[in-house]
Amino acid sequence: MKKKYFKPDLNKGFPAGKKINYECGLCGESVESLPEHFATCRCENISVDADSARVTVKDNQKIKFFRC
Ligand SMILES: [Zn+2]
Repeated sequence: MKKKYFKPDLNKGFPAGKKINYECGLCGESVESLPEHFATCRCENISVDADSARVTVKDNQKIKFFRC
């Protein structure tokens, strides 16, 4: 399926949804915004902890958002 990139307003927090994914600008790996428990990209710039609904991004400039 084709990726549709979008730019969310991060002041409102990170967007999350079944079709929303994050793409790391450092390692290029995609991370689900709603993983079952926990997800991180290969370089650990982006990590998502579903249990506490927390998204941690080390470098905010190195993340892209897309729906698919
Ligand atoms: Zn990464």
